[in-house]
Amino acid sequence: MSAAVIDGKQFAATLRARIADYAATFEQSAGRKAGLAVVLVGEDPASQVYVKSKGKATLECGMNSFEYKLPIDCDEATLLARIEALNADEAVDGILVQLPLPGHLDEQTVIAAINPDKDVDGFHVTNAGRLAVGQPGFVPCTPLGCVMLLKDRLGSLSGLDAVVIGRSNIVGKPMAQLLLAESCTVTIAHSRTKDLAEVVARADIVVAAVGRPEMVKGSWIKPGATVIDVGINRLPPAEGESKGRLVGDVDYAEAAAVAGAITPVPGGVGPMTIAVLLRNALVAAHRNAGVALADGAL
Ligand code: NDP
Repeated sequence: MSAAVIDGKQFAATLRARIADYAATFEQSAGRKAGLAVVLVGEDPASQVYVKSKGKATLECGMNSFEYKLPIDCDEATLLARIEALNADEAVDGILVQLPLPGHLDEQTVIAAINPDKDVDGFHVTNAGRLAVGQPGFVPCTPLGCVMLLKDRLGSLSGLDAVVIGRSNIVGKPMAQLLLAESCTVTIAHSRTKDLAEVVARADIVVAAVGRPEMVKGSWIKPGATVIDVGINRLPPAEGESKGRLVGDVDYAEAAAVAGAITPVPGGVGPMTIAVLLRNALVAAHRNAGVALADGAL
């Protein structure tokens, strides 16, 4: 058997086209564009690339993009004042502070300063709480993208056994909450889990969010299961290569021989993250401007 490849790049492109349509309708109804602000502290090269591509994608969808770059030695009060100004700015619907922050800044304090109704990353404790109790809020982009891919592939997830490997606040925990909300029977595995292979072997859905290259082996996967690989790991360069290959947390070749469907790395979950960020920003715009958006439209 060879698994179907879940094409996140294609799905994300379709979602972005839909967002662009809704962004245009929003502009007509609200008399202004939706706006997403991104704050970057310091000059970390990877963060600079992410911020640039987020800005570009925002503009391509017909929304306003606001970028604020603060120096690496920026103090907490300056950063919090910037967030306060964005909270108060009616042209700004969503606020994202690019993580990680330099070590002298406390991420929890900074995230807590964002108005939860503009917290399009879904990291604010209010949004984590809303997700836990089933109230509308903002859900972290990567796990929400994973659920979109799963529902597109499987339809209803109700009653399926799901194993999420990883329990971070950004991926693993919200992923588990979302699967629970879809009526899956959810197991969360982590570094202290005993017999991980055995735990994974009962799953109809496996979500790997660990950060360890090719850790999940094909022999662990139940035949026909759907495998979502969140991991992005760069291997050391092989001889003759300038940089190493990108791989996920799942041994793709092995798992693809057993699974029913699987996301590739790259081109699976990765492209969904920015698409869902844009989706969250546009949902925020509708809520902030009091413009109706049909349930499930985005
Ligand atoms: P974290 O490092 O915050 O969390 C990793 C989790 O994996 C922890 O809960 C840890 O357990 C668990 N873990 C570590 N080792 C093992 C092991 N041997 N067996 C079982 N569980 C283990 O990572 P993130 O959640 O932030 O990210 C996970 C991966 O997803 C990374 O590769 C990251 O690059 C990628 N990622 C991709 C995104 C995308 O857009 N596609 C977005 C965000 C992340 P414990 O809690 O016990 O330490």
